[in-house]
Amino acid sequence: MSTRAVIVGSGYAGTGAVKKLEEVAGNSIDITWISEHKYHLVLHEVHRCIRDPSIESDVVIPVDEVKQPDTEFIHDRVTNVDVDNRIVETDTQSDIAYDHLLLAVGSETAFYGIDGLQGHAHQLKGLDDAQEIHSDVKSAAESATQQNPAKIVIGGAGLSGIQTAGEIAEYRDDKRAPMEITLVEGLDEIFPGNDTELQTALQERLEEKGVNIMTGEFISGVDENVIYIGGSEDQDPTQLAYDTLVWTGGITGQKKSATLI
Ligand SMILES: Cc1cc2nc3c(=O)[nH]c(=O)nc-3n(C[C@H](O)[C@H](O)[C@H](O)COP(=O)(O)OP(=O)(O)OC[C@H]3O[C@@H](n4cnc5c(N)ncnc54)[C@H](O)[C@@H]3O)c2cc1C
Repeated sequence: MSTRAVIVGSGYAGTGAVKKLEEVAGNSIDITWISEHKYHLVLHEVHRCIRDPSIESDVVIPVDEVKQPDTEFIHDRVTNVDVDNRIVETDTQSDIAYDHLLLAVGSETAFYGIDGLQGHAHQLKGLDDAQEIHSDVKSAAESATQQNPAKIVIGGAGLSGIQTAGEIAEYRDDKRAPMEITLVEGLDEIFPGNDTELQTALQERLEEKGVNIMTGEFISGVDENVIYIGGSEDQDPTQLAYDTLVWTGGITGQKKSATLI
């Protein structure tokens, strides 16, 4: 019987592994590629879909255009790995046997237990997220007026937050939409920990685009209409009203990958 390698995930890691294995192993092993998406997503460009979802085909590459015909692709979600018996289980199949397994299932958004955040904020981890942010920003803009502009808040000023704020600002300008965009960062600088010149350049570009930047401000809670910032036993938190909140404040390992094995 030939050796079977199973690769889970069609992000950079999974897709790269499939391509490399096809290149080095040729026909000497059977490759099975499993992903919950039938495409490889160019995730570091997905923020562009926030401004314009019609560019989807620029950031989505169907797996059939990536893999060799001999590589088997299973469109499914892995739910369990039986490491003792070397078997992968999915939503619809329970016995995908493997000799070698690569779990390349990526990361998930970290909400740090901040009250109400997960329930009220968008995250940006996939195509669906970008499309949903677009749709929410659009409908907030449609019901806004010059006197009462749409209030869009982005929490977390790493690269994803900065790119999200920039795309929403471009959307606002393209559509001449009445909109206030605020980027809230817990640390004292945007793009924390990076080159000062770059931080300054990014800050200037965002401010030129009319993005309000709040640094040194930690989001401490969120409800349906208000973001609470800071606060302690002695001091009430500052309140920031919002229509759409996008949380790009951190990532963590996939909890499910820990429970898969
Ligand atoms: C807006 C944005 C901008 C970014 N910009 C940059 C940048 O400029 N430079 C940079 O270096 N990094 C950037 N990153 C980070 C970069 O995208 C990630 O580091 C990278 O995607 C990680 O690759 P990965 O393959 O490990 O995971 P992912 O790309 O997340 O892929 C995981 C894959 O596994 C699949 N999957 C998950 N669970 C299961 C399951 N149970 N069953 C089946 N399939 C499953 C998913 O559908 C997905 O296909 C950015 C990220 C974002 C969101």
